[in-house]
Amino acid sequence: MTVYVYDFAQGNKDQKDLLGGKGANLAEMTNLGLPVPPGFTISTDACRAYLAAGTEPSELAEQVSARLSALEETMGRRLGDAADPLLVSVRSGAKFSMPGMMETVLNIGLNDESVHGLARLSGDERFALDSYRRLLAMFGSTVLHIDSEHFSRALDAAKSARGTTADLDLDADDLRALVETFKQIIRDQAGREFPQDAREQLDLSVRAVFNSWNTDRARLYRRRERIPEDLGTAVNVQTMVFGNFGMDSGSGVAFTRDPASGNQGVYGDYLQNAQGEDVVAGIRNTVSLADFEKLDKTSYDDLIAIMAQLERHYRDMCDIEFTVERGKLWMLQTRVGKRTPGAAFRISRHMRDEGLIEADEQLSRVTGSQLASLMFPRFDASADKVLLATGMNASPGAAVGKVVFDSPTAVAWVERGEDVILVRKETNPSDLAGMVVAQGILTSRGGKTSHAAVVARGMGRTCVCGAEALDVDVEAKVVKVRGGGELREGDVISIDGATGEVFAGAVPVSPSDVVRYFEGEDVDADVVLAVDEVMTHADSRRRMKVRANADTAEDAARARRFGAEGIGLCRTEHMFLGDRRELVEHLIVAEDSAGQEAALDALLPLQRADFAGILEAMDGLPVTIRLIDPPLHEFLPDYTELSVKVALAEAAGGADPHDVRLLDHVRRLHEQNPMLGLRGVRLGIQIPGLFVMQARAILEAAADRIEAGGTPLPEIMVPLVASVRELDVVKRDILAVAEEVQAARGVEIDVKVGTMIELPRAAFLADRIAASAEFFSFGTNDLTQMAWGFSRDDVEAAFFSKYFEHGIFDVSPFESLDQRGVGGMVEMGTQKGRATKPDLKVGVCGEHGGDPASIHFFETVGLDYVSCSPFRVPVARLEAARAVLGTDA
Ligand code: ADP
Ligand code: MG
Ligand code: MG
Repeated sequence: MTVYVYDFAQGNKDQKDLLGGKGANLAEMTNLGLPVPPGFTISTDACRAYLAAGTEPSELAEQVSARLSALEETMGRRLGDAADPLLVSVRSGAKFSMPGMMETVLNIGLNDESVHGLARLSGDERFALDSYRRLLAMFGSTVLHIDSEHFSRALDAAKSARGTTADLDLDADDLRALVETFKQIIRDQAGREFPQDAREQLDLSVRAVFNSWNTDRARLYRRRERIPEDLGTAVNVQTMVFGNFGMDSGSGVAFTRDPASGNQGVYGDYLQNAQGEDVVAGIRNTVSLADFEKLDKTSYDDLIAIMAQLERHYRDMCDIEFTVERGKLWMLQTRVGKRTPGAAFRISRHMRDEGLIEADEQLSRVTGSQLASLMFPRFDASADKVLLATGMNASPGAAVGKVVFDSPTAVAWVERGEDVILVRKETNPSDLAGMVVAQGILTSRGGKTSHAAVVARGMGRTCVCGAEALDVDVEAKVVKVRGGGELREGDVISIDGATGEVFAGAVPVSPSDVVRYFEGEDVDADVVLAVDEVMTHADSRRRMKVRANADTAEDAARARRFGAEGIGLCRTEHMFLGDRRELVEHLIVAEDSAGQEAALDALLPLQRADFAGILEAMDGLPVTIRLIDPPLHEFLPDYTELSVKVALAEAAGGADPHDVRLLDHVRRLHEQNPMLGLRGVRLGIQIPGLFVMQARAILEAAADRIEAGGTPLPEIMVPLVASVRELDVVKRDILAVAEEVQAARGVEIDVKVGTMIELPRAAFLADRIAASAEFFSFGTNDLTQMAWGFSRDDVEAAFFSKYFEHGIFDVSPFESLDQRGVGGMVEMGTQKGRATKPDLKVGVCGEHGGDPASIHFFETVGLDYVSCSPFRVPVARLEAARAVLGTDA
């Protein structure tokens, strides 16, 4: 028999797959002896079984009954008992926390009878009715899918009837009436009565949690966060404790360190006489932990001691939900807390200093994508700025964009190429689509633990929240700025997530401290010290080398400053554009070999100068130069335009003979599928002088460098090879030029000739190709196109969104390597190549070389290096080391 239900005492923090994150940590805290209200967890197995069959597994009801009886025994109360009811919460909790995705139902077990029992027992009728109206609203919205607006409007109406805006001013009579109104709303909206049977309340809530796994919002979040679709969620059933029991009760959230800055010292918000998410919902102003100490010293001291214990136990920053019921502290949740990228680096350094973690573990605590966000620019400190308001610095970054007030507008504007800032009073899960696409998020209400702040930090999106000087009217699409002025949809603003400042207009941005550090400047900032510490250790741990894709001396020099150990891909095609295009045209229209040679001779010195700069910038390090790759027509004028030009000229009395000849060639070279046409090595074979000229330019530049005292290490790379014979043909010519240049110049050049592996056939026949190649470089962009049979430029916009919707892709195969398919070819090609040449140097130069998950894959395949854009080099250095340690990407 499968066990689907586990008491909190049966689990531990490492069982997140089975119990979900929340359940596993509740179990851990229970077993640490912390004050956790008792309860049990229904496993993710049960959820998966339910989702697969569309109905609960048959054993579930019985197992829940058994656990529930045990819980009733422990608590000395029965669920929903009229006189002395046990009340529970039903809480979702998947393996990975998905903020705001799945709702919680509190106070299950209350009904028209037991609400009186609770009132009598507590001696507080107002409290009992307050708990009941909360159950009705949560059950109504979460389980019966009634728009929660109905309930909040009725609540607002009750408050204004009282002439107040504070929920605490409602008395027992008001709440009794509200309970009736809420029940009527349920009748009207759901066409059924609120279930009076407590067990039915429980079972329906559990099922609602299971179902919530598949809501659109949950799917969207998972796709963004790359959380697998098939994990399912666990459900926690937990005895209620009451923060809404009067002013000596309350609920709060806390972090063991500041999640925004990483500063040492506890950080949190507390709200008196409040239940559940009141504290983060911005209904009343919360107080800081320092003020909480003044309100309730005993509970505060307990909380601080527990936080210290949790940090020592988890050896990481934790976030916490707690409730105080009549002066007694209860722990409701903990987990390793989300943090900003800067905080992640700083905390990792502080914890290493404190002896909580060691250097390897420090590497596992920070990620390449966090490093990448630290490299984003900031606002220029010296720029003139017009400050509109200052809110909470909820999630760092410098965002500039046009004001929009709702998610659909944000999505639509971004699709047409605009940058937007999503401006709301506060956000809720239905704003997620807009938050995903916006440059930044600005709210006028809520603190660092509000929905906007938590979600923005999770996504690495810039966020300023609680900017109270802004009066946001979403309906009228206008923001009134305190002290005068207003913002309307489309107005440009700039928000600084590191300081909480909101500026009018577009403020210029300047490079980040971390980038300045990589550039070699002396930067005195704690986060830079942390980055330096991490990178130093990463470089000592990684096996793979990191090279850069760079086509100019400037880029090469920057890449080297960023830690690149060579160039993995120097593209040469851009060297044939601009002024030089004319020379290419001459090459094409040349009628004889003398004409071709003249054109090539003109190109040679220009190419040589291109390469000299790059070889100098990368002196002593390998530089892989790819011979010209794209379809020839890319260097020629547009067929239609040229036809029109020639036709018009002829009508006017005669066209330029060069144009006429050119048109003839353009017509002849026109291809239906240029990407599958005359390009790469095929072009090299078709126009032999072209590759030879490039090889000569490379070798002569190398000879110049040697004469100047340098150590050039050029690697000549032939693109789009499918057959070893193709490589042989062009290699023979390249080696002949090498002989000739070395003899003529009296130098010995350390040059290698190798090939891209970017066609499936090449991967299959890599053992044969290796016989002729001195190195392999996987061109995973083309390999992905060729493997899937689609071209990136054409298909991404056309149908990828449908593919995401259907879960065919979790992520674009151009962004992160399709490990099974394309990765399989990389693995096979590497093995086959090394079967022929055991010490064959193998690297990758597609965009995947800078993608963390792909880098981890390349480590397992045993590649010698990855190559990526200069800006990604530090990210690749870090992830290559984390891959060695076996950390998740
Ligand atoms: P989320 O995953 O959105 O944080 P939770 O399951 O943590 O949802 O619950 C929402 C709110 O209800 C939290 O503030 C939590 O502390 C509170 N809560 C959950 N269960 C209980 C309980 N048994 N007693 C009191 N408060 C609870
Ligand atoms: Mg929630
Ligand atoms: Mg919670």
